[in-house]
Amino acid sequence: MLVGLPKEIKDHENRVGLTPNTVRALTRRGHKVLVQSGAGEGSYLSDAEYESAGATIVPHADDAWAAQLIVKVKEPTPAEYRYLHRDIILFTYLHLASDRPLVDALLKSGATAIGYETVQAEDGKLPLLTPMSEVAGRMATQIGATYLQKTHGGRGVLMGGVPGVASANVAILGGGIVGTNAARVAVGLGAQVTVLDVSHDRLKYLDDIYRGQLQTRFSDEYNIEEAVYEADLVIGAVLIPGGRAPWLVTAEMLPRMRKGAVIVDVAVDQGGCVETTRPTTHSNPTYELEGVVHYCVANMPSAVPRTSTFALNIQTAVYTLQLADEGLNALQKNRALQYGLNIHGGSITYPAVAEEFDMKC
Ligand code: NAD
Repeated sequence: MLVGLPKEIKDHENRVGLTPNTVRALTRRGHKVLVQSGAGEGSYLSDAEYESAGATIVPHADDAWAAQLIVKVKEPTPAEYRYLHRDIILFTYLHLASDRPLVDALLKSGATAIGYETVQAEDGKLPLLTPMSEVAGRMATQIGATYLQKTHGGRGVLMGGVPGVASANVAILGGGIVGTNAARVAVGLGAQVTVLDVSHDRLKYLDDIYRGQLQTRFSDEYNIEEAVYEADLVIGAVLIPGGRAPWLVTAEMLPRMRKGAVIVDVAVDQGGCVETTRPTTHSNPTYELEGVVHYCVANMPSAVPRTSTFALNIQTAVYTLQLADEGLNALQKNRALQYGLNIHGGSITYPAVAEEFDMKC
């Protein structure tokens, strides 16, 4: 099959849909991969690396979009709608429920659109969301450590302390993928870490692997207040599948928090688990309220595009290869991929997206 890799054109998007590793796997199986010149630039992947993996470098986006299977990271922007047509299979993050113009463009074009975010394994897990949660979780602690520095507006506390001086106190709300990865880095830096969750399984898992290196607490109002008031750094990592994040930290609680404390609300993309969270950007990532620094960037992984590109490809490659080998037949054979199908032949095929826009599925 002819596989196309266009350069991402969304603002601040430096990830790329295919690594040279995946390109090599595709070309070894006899597929032809058209890579737009400079597609990997943002992740420090050169045209030469793609070429030596067997790709053909093409000068323009038009050439890469001329392929049958298009692999990307972000949804097409309005400038890319003109490339959509009925013979194309688009494999990328789509997040259609919040993007009516893209839904309309895809329906009109007749294209097949498979969204990374709805590819679902048999155990209900979303394997193509996991890598970005891993990245965001590990970043959350690094970022919190940076903003805790006085020079960045924080309390002036070193995560690991020093002999004779206490280390930072970190409260992590939600012990799923983001929370577990945030905890891993915080424990590694020598902080005092408390993870709060409503799932006993998650608390038990963390308790088992950390064996006293962190505290686990059931997430109820009382315990949340205690942990948040004692914290130098609060990390918001809660997810209610398909729903808005609950406000576990209310506006009323802020004045009782430590002055110069930092909140990194990773759950901002689901509305945030802190009442005073509002989305920020990489160019202006923080604001201060009641002496508490808030960091609420909704696309944290794009700050580490190289790591994120490789992390994403490790998970997407198996599906990309199957789509290239078998085209749409891959959907019959792979149920996880079937869940990923959002739009096909001018109809919405994913119930939650159809419901959002009062359309038939
Ligand atoms: P996950 O499903 O693995 O974990 C969520 C955890 O929250 C679960 O363990 C669940 O039991 C727990 N939870 C639910 N209700 C709770 C409550 N009231 N109190 C405490 N814990 C509660 O999800 P994840 O992959 O870790 O994602 C967490 C959030 O991070 C999501 O909103 C996700 O969209 C977001 N995220 C944001 C970015 C970013 O760049 N900002 C990147 C990746 C993920």
